[in-house]
Amino acid sequence: MAEQLLKFTSIGQQYPDIRPAELRRADFEEIAARFDPAQAAEQASRCSQCGVPFCQIHCPLQNNIPDWLKLTAEGRIRDAYEMSAATNTFPEICGRICPQDRLCEGNCVIEKGFKSVTIGAVEKYLTDTAWQEGWIKPFTPVEDRGQSVGIIGSGPAGLAAAEKLRRRGYDVHVYDRHDRVGGLLIYGIPNFKLDKQVVARREDWLAQSGIQFHTKVEIGGNVTLADLRAKHDAVLIATGVYKARDMSAPGIALTGIVPALDYLITSNRKGLGDTVKEYDSGALNAEGKNVVVIGGGDTAMDCVRTAVRQGAKHVTCLYRRDRGNMPGSRKEVQNAEEEGVKFEFLAAPAAFLGDGKVNGVRAHRMRLGLPDASGRRFPEIVPGSDFTLKADMVIKALGFDPEALPTAFNTPELAVKADGTLTIDRTFMTGARGVFAAGDIVRGASLVVWAIRDGQDAALAMDAYLRQAQERVAA
Ligand code: FAD
Ligand code: SF4
Ligand code: SF4
Repeated sequence: MAEQLLKFTSIGQQYPDIRPAELRRADFEEIAARFDPAQAAEQASRCSQCGVPFCQIHCPLQNNIPDWLKLTAEGRIRDAYEMSAATNTFPEICGRICPQDRLCEGNCVIEKGFKSVTIGAVEKYLTDTAWQEGWIKPFTPVEDRGQSVGIIGSGPAGLAAAEKLRRRGYDVHVYDRHDRVGGLLIYGIPNFKLDKQVVARREDWLAQSGIQFHTKVEIGGNVTLADLRAKHDAVLIATGVYKARDMSAPGIALTGIVPALDYLITSNRKGLGDTVKEYDSGALNAEGKNVVVIGGGDTAMDCVRTAVRQGAKHVTCLYRRDRGNMPGSRKEVQNAEEEGVKFEFLAAPAAFLGDGKVNGVRAHRMRLGLPDASGRRFPEIVPGSDFTLKADMVIKALGFDPEALPTAFNTPELAVKADGTLTIDRTFMTGARGVFAAGDIVRGASLVVWAIRDGQDAALAMDAYLRQAQERVAA
């Protein structure tokens, strides 16, 4: 074993510095710094090079984590970067926003007695360094296959598939209804978690490598799925899930009660320099307001932390289960608390108060009852426990469902499951021949790293399909 490794007994866990809460509350810059070379090597050297690396097993991309940690500890940064990029299309993005506490780091073997290796921060360091040093160059396809692919959606699933297919020699066209490329990476996830320049840099690199982007094109509008099927040899649907879940309660229609994604898209657009009337009018701007966010997932955490940065007077998160049952990343909850967000756990809205415009939320206290069908303990109302919160703005962050795609795309062969996500076979093909699907539209609202994995796997399946199709024509 190299002497650079196994240092977890003598070197403590260290994450990159995080800016103090009072500073980061005031802007939308990323909150975490990057390791310097010595820190990255030192932290990588804590890895015990497990024979069965649970970190790798629990990474959706099965990244070769022990190997690139070893190379980092030895100072072979370029080799380490290349190894990490071999399995991950966007390592610098995953290093920033994967919930590592639930994936690689949460399963690091040394966590049992010592704290886990800081895998995500090393991954981010490697690829940020690769960009800085100019190691990442536009790529040239291995051959020209003379076939074309249309990809609907430029989120991580669509982009991961686009890269893989382009490398194999296909003419790749990516269509998105938005005016920018990146899906939720650009319009959902706030800049303080993922700097938009990191996403834009990837877009430029993909475009320089020959991928053609067509923004402001909504499939199902003037351009149909049938048009794309006629134009391309195969199509990938990677449209994500966007239909906001709603709730019914007295007063829900009052002005000032807004869906989370409308709020986040507006904030992200403003940060990107757009003129956004909903922000300027105050309708989707939390400045000076008492804000109540309903929900306990990553979207709710992004909303509360955005409201803090917009200068809200008070920000409260109302969540019907307890802290231990929150679906969002623990790290994000801690960040929010440090930034001044108040959490009301075991609390759910009973009614929204106001006259035309919301001015308060009446809430019930909850307790956890018996497990429901999903195995999670179901929250029950504690009788006589109502309390009231002041609220000039209420943000609903209750999750997302898929839009009805067979109807929107006028393609009944696109079979869907009970929850509306698309059904695919083992080759990622939908019920429509030559039409594949990947990412949240298949999996339901999930994670960026899973969208990348699905996009990569779908691309391999599409490659096999396209080769067979060409062989059939040649035979
Ligand atoms: P998306 O990223 O949703 O991209 C789909 C794209 O398809 C969009 O650009 C959309 O405009 C386009 N599109 C849709 N319909 C059409 C159409 N008819 N025609 C043309 N284009 C269309 N995951 C993490 O791992 N870490 C996080 O910190 C995290 N934070 C999140 C915060 C928020 C607020 C949200 C909402 C999600 C977050 N997620 C996070 C989840 C993650 O963003 C998604 O799982 C991931 O982006 C899914 O990728 P996708 O490519 O399937 O879809
Ligand atoms: Fe961990 Fe995500 Fe990187 Fe995998 S991709 S090693 S889960 S940070
Ligand atoms: Fe290293 Fe932890 Fe992975 Fe083991 S589980 S190989 S110690 S990072």
